[in-house]
Amino acid sequence: MDRLIDGFGRRFRYLRLSVTEVCNFRCTYCLPDGYRKSAGPAFLGVDEIGRLVSTFQRLGIEKVRLTGGEPTVRKDIGHIIARVADVPGIAKVAMTTNGWNLNRHVSSWRAAGLTNLNVSIDSLDRQAFTRLTGHDRLDQVVAGLDQALAIGVPTVKVNAVLLRDSLENGFSDFAEFVRDRPVAVRFIELMRTADNAAYFADQHVSGERLKTWLAQEGWSARVRASDDGPATEYEHRDFAGRIGLIAPYGAGFCDGCNRLRVTAQGLLRLCLFGQGGVSLRDLLAADAGEGASDLLAGRIAQALTGKPLGHDLASSQAGDTRNLAQFGG
Ligand code: SAM
Ligand code: SF4
Repeated sequence: MDRLIDGFGRRFRYLRLSVTEVCNFRCTYCLPDGYRKSAGPAFLGVDEIGRLVSTFQRLGIEKVRLTGGEPTVRKDIGHIIARVADVPGIAKVAMTTNGWNLNRHVSSWRAAGLTNLNVSIDSLDRQAFTRLTGHDRLDQVVAGLDQALAIGVPTVKVNAVLLRDSLENGFSDFAEFVRDRPVAVRFIELMRTADNAAYFADQHVSGERLKTWLAQEGWSARVRASDDGPATEYEHRDFAGRIGLIAPYGAGFCDGCNRLRVTAQGLLRLCLFGQGGVSLRDLLAADAGEGASDLLAGRIAQALTGKPLGHDLASSQAGDTRNLAQFGG
């Protein structure tokens, strides 16, 4: 079986697939004015997604994360989950969501095959949450997360962007949140994109602030497994859950990169902060012909030879990424 290995010996087992650029939230660092429709091809359909994932699986991909935009604004998201879960060899079907409709749908998504759920919650303070997202929905989002735990979604995590404004009580609020919940809350350092330069200058804080707080409060770093993602996680004997840090500006962040991205329009992106991409769409059509999957596998493997060693964020180069809703983060 072919395997995806790049020129730096990194092996790829994880595909992040954006299923839409549309989002219903207006997170201040991502889409502060809300989603604006732009011209372009329709988003990939369920059958195209099925063919795409089958080919990636042949190349060694074992985990697929559905993201966006907000993946759950698609009415057929349950079908998408089921189609991806049905591909033999795909062991994990993950989704990153803002959680707006989780409490209504998580049971059916779990039944369709969802195994890993990341819910984005940047603040546990209702007013701050409303200010950050444009929606007074914190209670519903937390209810959805609790329901996911109650029905036994195997892995549930929280993503929280580290922002200067929410430093004050943020860490202790989230620690309390995981006291009895077996959930990892991972703080993500705010990333600079083409659209958020001024916001970034105002709100970016280093993950060192979190590390200092964790050390003061008696949390200790877990030993990392070789196939761990980019988060360093910390644990504490009095707490059921964990707290983690994803520091894209930290040294060595790209060394263990194990993920590829495909946009909602079928463009393979080799780096979140790169330029352009390789279109896969012509080979995903129902009438692409016999051998389309082999051609697709060849195109993906060829593209990977051009994957750069790392991003260039340190020199404020965010590639052509306007915001992370374009590619799913
Ligand atoms: N809409 C879904 C959500 O918010 O979970 C999925 C897409 S969103 C782009 C994926 C993740 O990227 C979210 O956890 C979000 O907080 C994070 N994100 C978006 N823009 C970011 C930025 N500039 N820096 C760091 N994280 C960001
Ligand atoms: Fe939407 Fe997610 Fe971006 Fe917030 S972070 S605006 S929920 S895509």
